[in-house]
Amino acid sequence: RLVAAPVESREEEVIDRAMRPKMLVDYTGQAEAKGQLDIFIQAARNRGEALDHLLIFGPPGLGKTTLANIVANEMGVNIKSTSGPVLEKAGDLAAMLTNLEENDVLFIDEIHRLSPVVEEILYSAMEDYQLDIMIGEGPAARSIKLDLPPFTLIGATTRAGSLTSPLRARFGIPLRLEFYNVADLTTIVNRSAEVLNLEIDQSGAIEVARRSRGTPRIANRLLRRVRDFAEVKYDGRVTAEVASGALQLLDVDKEGFDLLDRKLLTTIIERFNGGPVGLENLAAAIGEERETIEDVLEPFLIQQGFLQRTPRGRIVSDRTYLHFGLSKPD
Ligand code: ADP
Repeated sequence: RLVAAPVESREEEVIDRAMRPKMLVDYTGQAEAKGQLDIFIQAARNRGEALDHLLIFGPPGLGKTTLANIVANEMGVNIKSTSGPVLEKAGDLAAMLTNLEENDVLFIDEIHRLSPVVEEILYSAMEDYQLDIMIGEGPAARSIKLDLPPFTLIGATTRAGSLTSPLRARFGIPLRLEFYNVADLTTIVNRSAEVLNLEIDQSGAIEVARRSRGTPRIANRLLRRVRDFAEVKYDGRVTAEVASGALQLLDVDKEGFDLLDRKLLTTIIERFNGGPVGLENLAAAIGEERETIEDVLEPFLIQQGFLQRTPRGRIVSDRTYLHFGLSKPD
């Protein structure tokens, strides 16, 4: 699957890093989030203080990790990165916290997946810059308190609703990232093409942008595949025709839907008569995890008006029938 691809090759990783914008001015789109952040960063910098804790939410690939790194760059501080599932024990988090220097950024991806014991430690760390931890077990156990330097926690999550309220309440700045429009994605594609040293005309860039599910990560990934196609089948230059041919080969349709998107929508139509169908049944029918459906597949389909969440379950829209050339049952 294009969204949550498995391990990428070394070369792809290097390219990916090169494509990542480093400063706020190079971060395309997300005008609202960027505008707010710009002010908060300037204010914190002028006061010489750590930026307030920041919670970034939005579907995968929209630029949460990129933004966290930009914040550290703009503040001129270090960033230490980890993720919710990696921090298994209280000690894992304690080790990270005690390694921070003044005003540093600690980035925790998938913060909704922290274990309760680890989350508990975060509370006093965020609120009072204090580490309050139990060491040892049984009668020898004792609690120690350590002062931490002021720091900024940046949490990223695909599901804001899954955060506990005490954790959520400790973030001063919540930022929601939105899907990107075609114009912004075109800018991103052009910029990435430059990094790749790839010649692409405007119609080629728009074609890739249009089929990227509103997501920069997908735009960059498709662009690399289009580049392969252009080099092997054509003279290396990307036009709309080249892009369109490559994307067809990759099974990405005009709306940017891939096989899994189409499977989800056509299953609702063919097996559930257009819906409503509950998430559990849908997951079983297409053989995917509920979480993948909710976090990765649905947000874009809903935003584009192909799918609706209702209290009775998921339903497809008239647009969906139209897209697949099917007629709606009475
Ligand atoms: P997330 O953490 O939300 O899953 P990432 O920050 O890893 O997403 O972004 C995925 C890729 O998309 C990055 O490698 C970066 O190259 C690109 N990207 C994301 N947001 C932007 C943006 N606003 N402008 C340009 N490129 C972006």
